[in-house]
Amino acid sequence: MNADIIALVALVSIALFVVGLKRLSRIRTARSGNALIAGGMLLAVVLTLVEQGRIDWRWILGGLAVGSAVGILIVVRAQATQMPEIVARFNGFGGAASALVALSLFWGVVIEPVSADTAFAALGATAALTAVLSVIIGAVTMSGSVLAELKLRGTLDGSPRIPVRTLLMGLAVLTALGAGLVAIGSVDETVAMLAVIGLVIASILVGVILVVPIGGADMPVVISLLNSFSGLAAAAAGFALSNPLLIIAGTVVGAAGLILTQIMCVAMNRSLLNVMIGGFGGAVEADTSDYVSITSSDAEEAAMVLEIAESVVIVPGYGLAQARAQTAAYDVAKALQQLGVNVRFAIHPVAGRMPGHMNVVLAEAEVPYEMLFEMDQINQDLPQTDVVIVVGANDVVNPAANTQPNSPIAGMPILDVAGARRVFVIKRSLSPGYAGIKNELFDMDNTTMLFGDAKKILDELAAELQKAAKR
Ligand code: NDP
Repeated sequence: MNADIIALVALVSIALFVVGLKRLSRIRTARSGNALIAGGMLLAVVLTLVEQGRIDWRWILGGLAVGSAVGILIVVRAQATQMPEIVARFNGFGGAASALVALSLFWGVVIEPVSADTAFAALGATAALTAVLSVIIGAVTMSGSVLAELKLRGTLDGSPRIPVRTLLMGLAVLTALGAGLVAIGSVDETVAMLAVIGLVIASILVGVILVVPIGGADMPVVISLLNSFSGLAAAAAGFALSNPLLIIAGTVVGAAGLILTQIMCVAMNRSLLNVMIGGFGGAVEADTSDYVSITSSDAEEAAMVLEIAESVVIVPGYGLAQARAQTAAYDVAKALQQLGVNVRFAIHPVAGRMPGHMNVVLAEAEVPYEMLFEMDQINQDLPQTDVVIVVGANDVVNPAANTQPNSPIAGMPILDVAGARRVFVIKRSLSPGYAGIKNELFDMDNTTMLFGDAKKILDELAAELQKAAKR
């Protein structure tokens, strides 16, 4: 293909990334931003394959058809509530794709050699070393994301401690690096091939050792870190292929993921090292002793309290997403506004099961962005708030984070709803949240439980409040 056309298409693709990213920063334009980035990526992949000139266009079309079919099937079959698991799976796919791209480089020099050179000599130092890095990071991302998906789905319960974890991790990393160096440095095809297999297996193990013991409240950090890894693997593959587009796209994803990891670490009040080395989430025995003074009520009574409130804060959590109750929550907010109440939504950075989960579900219900307040913005107003409605949230409002130094969520900043004049907690039972611990909030004098499915209770509340607004 003509070099000018290649450069032009690459430029269009990069422009699509940049404009798409800009649009991602606002909820209203995020959907079109996502579409632009996907278009840019498609263009980049096809351009790379055409530019390499090694592959027939029928294979490209076949790959597009199979990839699109798998993507459509996954999304169509999945419930909206499974979004966090799907995001984890797509992260894993990204890592696997980069590892496969890097492995394909070994194919040409190890499996079907065209010369007697080592991969190092045939590919050059930069390409050979970054190919090894891409396989390692890509395989770690893949195995780590599979485990993250299983944990999010609840298939893999708990966070078992791995004895001598740091030693095992060190051994696995050294084996992967050593196997990688043998793979690119050996002239013997069999040795090189065995080394490539060793490289892949050891890298998969690194991902397993990294993610298995991390659980509970620390999962958001791992998920954003894996997201960053998927980008770094792609950037390394870009260096291996000398493909600037892949380097740019991978670096952008890697950097965005690192920023997100930093945000999640701040949200959890942990350092990344503490999460990675500590395997923190599952390490502490949860306090599951019984509650002593639970007060419960129903929607009708709660509506009577809400009608006369001046300020109401709604705290959405994982249960809201699970119950698909976002529209019902907005209906309650609108009914309260009709009654002249100041209503705001308080968003905890790790509420739900993926970074930004609550923003996404509330945007789906078209809750205006101006009604959403970050934890830092709203915490100072909570003591002056008349009523807080906690909808399917648990860990993010659990005072144990401040009062119990041995709690798995100790030190995590929370939405301090206990200070509000009245708190209604909507959930189906007294069962714990993701961190698996008792919540002192439920036992407090100013808390009233509204037991039931979040959507059902919120629909009832909205109906009562709408009646009141008409009176
Ligand atoms: P939690 O997981 O702490 O609590 C959710 C609550 O929702 C449960 O106690 C459950 O109680 C209730 N619930 C579930 N389904 C329904 C329903 N249909 N109707 C009403 N209530 C329901 O959620 P939070 O959002 O407070 O906290 C998020 C937790 O997840 C944190 O520990 C965070 O670290 C972790 N996490 C976050 C990730 C992220 O990236 N944001 C990723 C992975 C983990 P009941 O069964 O009684 O109804």
